[in-house]
Amino acid sequence: MQGRENCAPVTMLSFGRGRLSIEPSAMRYIEPHGHMVSRVTDDYLDMVTAGCAAVCEPAFWAGFDRGSVDGFFDYFAQLTEHEPKRAAKFGLPHFTWLCINPKESEDVALAAEVIGIIPKFLDRPTVLGIGEIGLNKNSRNEMKVLEMHVDLAARRNQLILVHTPHLEDKLKGTRLILDVLKGDRRIRPERCIIDHVEEHTVGMVLDAGFWAGMTLYPETKCTGARAIDIVEKYGAERLWMNSACDWGVSVPLAVPRTALEMRRRGHDAEAIDRLIYQNPVQFMSQCPKFKLAQV
Ligand SMILES: [Zn+2]
Repeated sequence: MQGRENCAPVTMLSFGRGRLSIEPSAMRYIEPHGHMVSRVTDDYLDMVTAGCAAVCEPAFWAGFDRGSVDGFFDYFAQLTEHEPKRAAKFGLPHFTWLCINPKESEDVALAAEVIGIIPKFLDRPTVLGIGEIGLNKNSRNEMKVLEMHVDLAARRNQLILVHTPHLEDKLKGTRLILDVLKGDRRIRPERCIIDHVEEHTVGMVLDAGFWAGMTLYPETKCTGARAIDIVEKYGAERLWMNSACDWGVSVPLAVPRTALEMRRRGHDAEAIDRLIYQNPVQFMSQCPKFKLAQV
């Protein structure tokens, strides 16, 4: 790995049952899904300290429904203007994805208005694509709005980042989403990431040629240990991990912490680097706007 020769000396730390050699400054990773507008500056500092080389922020639900298209206009301005500047203060490149979240897709008329203003922002230098779109409760209105987003992404040749529903709705919702994407001939699966996969959905996503994201939440979605189980079963191709840190219970350092757990379980440095750095860089680099200061 380039630059590894200049790393800080190896430190022996006690970790779990055994002793583990840790090279703190050797780890590098991408946070491919972090809702940084909800986080404080200490989170940026911690992420950069842990080796974060870029953060990508999909548009998200605010925890309450925004009441008008103007609320979304301001949010998109925040994601494309203010947040990259805030991240830059910590030396961290910040990229974003735009959409109206499936949690706010019941009002189809409002969703159509919001989708109508997205093109104004798509050519901005840090916008990677359309996301996180998808389904929440698998309703008809959510499906309509999903199809509208997919159409916009196809017309503008955008990458797509997809949110899949929680718990018992996840399997059905993931099937519905894959059907929509596979049913549109303009969409290439290698340009879509299906996020929040779990043990029962990752296979169908990878088999269909899409990328899959594992979201490391302390309580729901995927724990670090389960994510590593999935990697050990399915391999690391077209797979990444993210923290999806937002305004709820979530851990901005979930990716590097899971990387430490991978080391403990015997994964070598190259395999870890591939999963947490090279894979997201490979996917994101399909958008020419994704550039890192030091690769
Ligand atoms: Zn998210």
